[in-house]
Amino acid sequence: MSVPNLPEKTKVCIIGGGPAGVIAAYLFALRGVSVVLLEGKPDFDREFRGDTLHASSLEILDQLGLADEVLQQANSKVQNLSFTFPDRVITMADFSAMDCKFPYVAIIPQEKFLNYIVEKTKQLSGFHILMGAQVRELREVNVKVTGVKYTFEGDEYALDADLTIGADGRGSTARRLAKIELGKTSPPMDVIWFKLPIPAGSDLKEAVSGRIGSGTMIIIINRKEYLQVGYVIMKGGYKALREEGVEHFHNVIKGLAPELGDSVTTIKDWSEMAILSVVTGRVEQWYKDGLLLIGDAAHIMSPVGGVGINYAIQDAVAAVNQLADPIKQDRLSTTDLAGVQKRREPAVAFIQKFQSFVQQRIISDALKSDKPFEPPLPMKLISKIPFIRKRLARFLAYGTRHEHVEGL
Ligand SMILES: Cc1cc2nc3c(=O)[nH]c(=O)nc-3n(C[C@H](O)[C@H](O)[C@H](O)COP(=O)(O)OP(=O)(O)OC[C@H]3O[C@@H](n4cnc5c(N)ncnc54)[C@H](O)[C@@H]3O)c2cc1C
Repeated sequence: MSVPNLPEKTKVCIIGGGPAGVIAAYLFALRGVSVVLLEGKPDFDREFRGDTLHASSLEILDQLGLADEVLQQANSKVQNLSFTFPDRVITMADFSAMDCKFPYVAIIPQEKFLNYIVEKTKQLSGFHILMGAQVRELREVNVKVTGVKYTFEGDEYALDADLTIGADGRGSTARRLAKIELGKTSPPMDVIWFKLPIPAGSDLKEAVSGRIGSGTMIIIINRKEYLQVGYVIMKGGYKALREEGVEHFHNVIKGLAPELGDSVTTIKDWSEMAILSVVTGRVEQWYKDGLLLIGDAAHIMSPVGGVGINYAIQDAVAAVNQLADPIKQDRLSTTDLAGVQKRREPAVAFIQKFQSFVQQRIISDALKSDKPFEPPLPMKLISKIPFIRKRLARFLAYGTRHEHVEGL
């Protein structure tokens, strides 16, 4: 049985409509490969998962002729990545110095970005999307994945596919069902996320800014209608913080970022905050016969550097570049799937090492300190040398491998 207007068989079935899934769907459809995208949620209005599109992703969209329209949805453009300490401001990455078409990070609400790409994909033939479709099972014949079983409005349906792509994020069902092990690490931090109204007369000039105090740290993201604030704590520190009470929490935040004024007192209860246990990790093998994992399903990204969306998009581009022809010609093999991992894994491993360094050597040290945190020497040096600030910006924007769409 299949849902009306949805085929029972497709070349590619994509599980999950995050950045990896929607870009892969768009590119497969563009290459004339039939594709069904199954998204578990009824809409794209998701919990905050970051809004940052770096130059690498914008260049891919530009290649597709979509960058101008996507940028019209941008809340702002971030020129540099700075941290404010009690006695100084340190700029770590200077995106504006990059010699490229998009010398900034565009801040675009994911909901708008995902909706836009899906609407564009709907204009291509051979594309189907089902929102609210939860994949529950992988179909297998002789250990080859041949599609999925999913539930939609309480009923169960099946879909056959030559290739199933698990783009279903950090808690990937595809990964679990395929029994692909995730090598996890637990960075020494958790983040408490909450929203605040923008204080009247606020002079929060930067779209994204960080504040580091004595054993405390916050990230403030100006989302135009409100502020998204991440309060970074030592892993496991949430219980002790709660025991101190909401009023104490207000005082901590006011101490760290006085410019937020009394807006923090709009938080009346812990239920208005979401605790994110920061986990990172990578699977050893991104594929098995008939199945490929991409994006966070293959490698959970830490929020450090705001690059996870971009790595998910690059994975999607690499996957379609590598797989579109073999799929069209009915000659897809596990060697092709292995080729995607081979291409993407070194870049992912490198940025994860960098994130881990920042987590262990800067964030963790800052959180352990009970005195005003003295920026470590490398941080001070970077802030003083424009060339290094530009190199760091380029590294965050492009990583060690930048994908381009092929076969257009
Ligand atoms: C709090 C937080 C802040 C972040 N901030 C940033 C940032 O500023 N910049 C940045 O670049 N990255 C950030 N990241 C990381 C970024 O969100 C991820 O790296 C990125 O979203 C990964 O994209 P994806 O497409 O692989 O997966 P996701 O974006 O997680 O998408 C997976 C999709 O799969 C769907 N799904 C899951 N299970 C099923 C199922 N069984 N059936 C059907 N559908 C399913 C989900 O509903 C979801 O839509 C942040 C992450 C977190 C947690």
